[in-house]
Amino acid sequence: MPKFRQTAELLRLMGKKDSVRNVCVVAHIDHGKTTMTDSLLIEAGLLPSGLAGSARVLDYLEEEQKRGITIKAANISFLHEVDGSPYLINLVDTPGHVDFAGKVTRALRAVDGAIVVVDAVEEVMAQTETVMRQALEERVRPVLFINKVDRLIKELKLSPNEIQKKFVRIITDFNNIIEIYGEPRFREKWKVNPSKQSVVFGSALHRWGFTMEIAEKKGIRFSDRDIIDAYEHEAWQELSQVVPLHTAILDMVVKNLPSPLESQRYRVPKIWKGSLTSEIGQAMANCDDQGPTVIGITAAQVVQNEGLVATGRIFSGSVKKGDRAYLVSADKVHRVQQVSLYMGAFREAVSEISAGNIAALTGLELARAGETIVDVEYKSMSIPFRNAQYVSEPVMTIAIEPKSPRDQESLLEGLKRLSIEDPNLLTTLDTETGQHLLSGMGELHLEVAMNFLKKYIGDVEFDATSPIATYRETVLRSGALVMTKSPNKCNKFWVQTEPLESKAITVLEKSVTHSKSEFRKSAEEEIWAVDERINILVDSTKQAEHLQDVKNDVVSGFHWACRTGPLSEQPLRGVKVKLMDVKLDRNSENREPSQVTRAMSRAILGSLLTANPTLLEPIYKVEVSVPLQWLGTCSKIITRRHGKIEATQQKGLSAIITGYVPVAQTFGLAAEMRTATSGHVFWQLTFDHWEKIAQKLEAAVITQLRTRRGLPPEVPQPRAFVDEILS
Ligand code: GDP
Repeated sequence: MPKFRQTAELLRLMGKKDSVRNVCVVAHIDHGKTTMTDSLLIEAGLLPSGLAGSARVLDYLEEEQKRGITIKAANISFLHEVDGSPYLINLVDTPGHVDFAGKVTRALRAVDGAIVVVDAVEEVMAQTETVMRQALEERVRPVLFINKVDRLIKELKLSPNEIQKKFVRIITDFNNIIEIYGEPRFREKWKVNPSKQSVVFGSALHRWGFTMEIAEKKGIRFSDRDIIDAYEHEAWQELSQVVPLHTAILDMVVKNLPSPLESQRYRVPKIWKGSLTSEIGQAMANCDDQGPTVIGITAAQVVQNEGLVATGRIFSGSVKKGDRAYLVSADKVHRVQQVSLYMGAFREAVSEISAGNIAALTGLELARAGETIVDVEYKSMSIPFRNAQYVSEPVMTIAIEPKSPRDQESLLEGLKRLSIEDPNLLTTLDTETGQHLLSGMGELHLEVAMNFLKKYIGDVEFDATSPIATYRETVLRSGALVMTKSPNKCNKFWVQTEPLESKAITVLEKSVTHSKSEFRKSAEEEIWAVDERINILVDSTKQAEHLQDVKNDVVSGFHWACRTGPLSEQPLRGVKVKLMDVKLDRNSENREPSQVTRAMSRAILGSLLTANPTLLEPIYKVEVSVPLQWLGTCSKIITRRHGKIEATQQKGLSAIITGYVPVAQTFGLAAEMRTATSGHVFWQLTFDHWEKIAQKLEAAVITQLRTRRGLPPEVPQPRAFVDEILS
């Protein structure tokens, strides 16, 4: 009988917290995460054997099948026996491509351990490091699967000694990442060691693998050429019988990764903002079924005929149909309509799911990834989870417009759905042109989003521009003190702008929402507002009358200006705005919000124009892995696109090139690299930093951005925004 049908057994184990393991699989793209997961599914009876790597049950969305990459995280729960005891393993799948890294971070919140897949040929790569860092930041413990060992034997024809050396290097690199990013209290304990069964060696494609313990039990050794001989004599199929991969992986999971009972004690203080001594805090730290229900939502998806399906980890209490749940960020109470377990492409409705497990919930229409759900009775005591620390910059934008204005509404609906499901997509309406702007992390991210959009809105036809890079506006020196009157001429605002100190930029870049307010408190100046794109508003007025009455509107004016800078309506970055003085009308009717907001934002824009404003462009870090013979070709492609090569390094038969390249120069890079290397190249582009745009390009880019936004090509003079320029 297929194991996944044993729902009753799964439900029983959910109550035995020390028999539960919540894990995910992470890897550099193409290292074999999907193939490995499929081989576990075959064992669970969810996939017919022989299909590993081709059927891809977890990649159930068409888009993923078509492209052969994982985009959305799907989940599955199944059983595994170790030493005669059954365990429940909740496996959360995560996307492989770096453009979807935001989803990986959110999925990590649901799990306590991560199986990191590393390709034995390519070894530890940039994305391996990125995903491990993300895991360690969430106090998720990593274990190692060294995959594609068959290639070392069949393709590279390495000797047992050479294979051994490669393994040592991979394990050392892996442990170095733990040394760098792990917290001191976990560092030594979490480093992997073959003799502690925290490393599996194997081949996901051929479905064999072993830990040292298994190898010893079965009497298998590389040094005795057991594995090598199996390949030389075309007998490798037998390996999957003798040392099946799933046994090795799941043994490693059960023996090394923590149960929720163990992990919640140290994870809750890190990921939740409340006090551990409170009733809720205690219940969460103890993973207590009887405590108040607290769920962290890790993903949301809109499903036809069902509405929103939210996936979440239950940290305490339990959830069942009909429960009244309070959504902390949305500040709404919803009724849970259905509770179900994930079975890859399917979900199975169950009566109740308890603490330490992962559930799919319907009825929570406003739940988004990152939302905290609590039992409505504890509404007044509810405290949210911390934001998952993932910095994403949507650095590429396309503009979308329906062919017929009648279809605006449908297009808007489709875009809304996109941003519900993928919080890393940003949608904004350009009021000047009536176009919708969709920003994402890269070309692939946007391309995939467009395909989903087409599916969501059916027959609605729309035009989309090709992607362009997203820019920021900043200033290079202090601007003039300027004064702007409100449109009704009754109020005056004196404002000055200047570059934000680099130290403050660094602090703000690193901080998540909760520490932004700490930054505010620690500053010597009176900081009124911190804009998420790293700008601040400081109050430098002295005893200005009525100012407190309009404070909120002043802050709105500041945020307004931060969204659309004066050069080309790109967001500001690294700007400090000082409100120097105000003169406000005595009559509150004359200082309505719109009067204040407008004057404030115009004064800021005017001062910026006197402060040597300039554009910042996004820069990707690029990492390319290519057979040595194409090293020169790939380096040339990068430098021709104004990229800078930082290092080249040889790893086995591959060359690894690392460097930086402006986002604006990367359109079509994928196709060019593939053609130039006959498809033998792997690479990744991740946003790294903002950099001042080259002088010679600036004017042309500003004109292009202005034209796209339907603005006159000339940048306005400061006088267009202000009534007086004082110094
Ligand atoms: P993902 O991007 O990490 O999900 O990687 P996939 O599972 O899609 O695998 C990428 C490619 O590597 C596919 O062509 C797989 O068939 C291949 N692959 C995966 N595991 C193995 C393995 O153990 N041996 C060999 N030779 N190829 C493998």
